[in-house]
Amino acid sequence: MNETQLEINLDPVSGNRFRQALESGRFVTLIETQVPAAEMDKEAGIRRLEMLENAIFSGPLENVSLAITDNPGRPDWKAVEYASGLPAANRDRHVVYLSGANLSKEAVLEQIQMAENANLYNIIPVSGDIPEKCRTLKECRKTVFTESVSTLNMLKTRSSDFFTGATVNPFQYTPYALLGSYYKLMKKFNSGAGFLVTQAGWDMLKLQSLAWYLTGRDMYYPKIARLTLLSPEKTESIISGNTLGIKMSKGMKKLLETELTYNRAQFDAVQYRRLELQVSGCRLLGFSGVQICGADNPSKMDFILKLIRSALNEFTSFDVWLEKYNAFMASTEMAPFEHNFHLFDRILHRPYPFDAPPETREIPPADPALPEKIGYGIRSFLFRHADRQRAANAGHLKTLLTGCRGCDTCYLPQKSYICPLTCPLGLVNGICGSVDLDGSCPVSKQECIHHRILRMAHWRKRLHEQENMITDGK
Ligand code: SF4
Repeated sequence: MNETQLEINLDPVSGNRFRQALESGRFVTLIETQVPAAEMDKEAGIRRLEMLENAIFSGPLENVSLAITDNPGRPDWKAVEYASGLPAANRDRHVVYLSGANLSKEAVLEQIQMAENANLYNIIPVSGDIPEKCRTLKECRKTVFTESVSTLNMLKTRSSDFFTGATVNPFQYTPYALLGSYYKLMKKFNSGAGFLVTQAGWDMLKLQSLAWYLTGRDMYYPKIARLTLLSPEKTESIISGNTLGIKMSKGMKKLLETELTYNRAQFDAVQYRRLELQVSGCRLLGFSGVQICGADNPSKMDFILKLIRSALNEFTSFDVWLEKYNAFMASTEMAPFEHNFHLFDRILHRPYPFDAPPETREIPPADPALPEKIGYGIRSFLFRHADRQRAANAGHLKTLLTGCRGCDTCYLPQKSYICPLTCPLGLVNGICGSVDLDGSCPVSKQECIHHRILRMAHWRKRLHEQENMITDGK
C-alpha cells in the first residue's frame, strides 16, 4: 500500500487527489473499466470495484485511478450509480464517465445529483458515442441524447467542486473534421472542462498535433491519451470495421493482420511493446497521463502497471524514444488515405519548438459545387435575419431549405444557413467522435452536418468564427 492511499478525503476540493496529481504535473495512469451488466447484483458490483481498486493501489505506480465508463445503448448500470459503490475514502482518486446517450437533460441532472451525493467529483461527460441500436436514422430519432457541452455547463452551474474532463478525437484526417474536433474541445474548455482525454487511437502524429495546437495557444490543460491494449478478438473487431470511431490506415491494418498470425504469447508481447512505446511517447509529447483500456482484470492491471513503470524509466529522451518508436513501427503509414491533412509541418520529428513556434498550415481552399453555392445564395437572401426572428416564424420553406427546427435561439446566419440540429443525434455544438474518415456521418451516410458547416464557413472566409460559438439553441 503506498503512502497517498492512507490520506482520507473529507473535503471534496482540497482532497481531490486526482485533480491535485494532474494539476501538479505528476504523470497519472487511468485504468479503464466498464460498468457491469444489469444482471450483476449490487453486492457483487461493490466487491468487483474493491478488487479492481486493490489491484491498482497495490501496484508499483503512484497516481493510478480507475476510469469507470458507461455502456450506452445497453441496459447496464449507469457509471455514476456503479461508482457510488467505491470505498468512500478513495472516491476522489477515480474518474467517472457520464454518457448523455438515452438520457434527457433532467435525467442527466439526476445523475449529477447522485454523483454529488456520493462525493464523485471527477466527471467526464460524453455525448457522441452512437449506440449499436442507433446506427439508423429511424432508431436515432427515437433516442434522446444530451450533449457533453450541455452536461459540462450543468456541472459547472451545479458546483465548483466538480473537476470535469473533455473528450476529443484528434485522429481526424480532413481539415474540417480535425478543426471541428479542436473547436469542440475549445467549447468544452469554455464550458468548464479542466482536463482532456483523447479518444483511443494509434497515430502519435495526431497526438503531438493536438499538444502543439494547445501549446501554441498557451493552453496548458492536462492532457490524457487513451490507449488500447489489443487482444486478438478486439483486433479482429477493429480490422473488420465493427468498432465505431476507431480509424485505421491500410498500413496499420496490415501490421495487425500480420500480428494476428502469431501465436498468443508472441501476439501479446508485441502489444505490450507497442503500449510501452506509446505510454512513454505520450509523456515525452507533453501528455499528463494515459488511460488504458483492455486491462480488464486485476492480474492484467498489475502487469500493465509494471509495464508502464518500466516504459517510463526506459525513455527519458525524445530522440531516443523516436528512434525506437520508428524502428518498431517500421515506417507504417498511420494516415488512412493519401491526401490526409496535418495542421503542422515536421510533426513527430522534434519536441515542441518553443524558440520558433510552428505555424499552422493553410487549409486548401474550399470550392463548393455550383448547386451548393446557389443554395447558399438563396438561403442567405431569404433568411439573413433569422437570428432576430421569433421561433414561431419558422415556415415550411425555412424548414425545407435550412433544416430549421424552430429553436428559441437561432444561429442560422452564423452557420451558413444550415441548422446544426439536423445532426441525427441533435448534437448542436460540433462534430462527434464517430464521424467517418471522409467526414461523413455513420448514421445519415451523408456529409456530417458540422463538417459541411465548417467547409461552407471556410469558403466564406469565416472559419475562425466557428471556434467558440456555443449553439445550445433549444
Ligand atoms: S452529423 Fe456529425 S456530429 Fe452528428 S452524429 Fe453524424 S457525424 Fe456525429
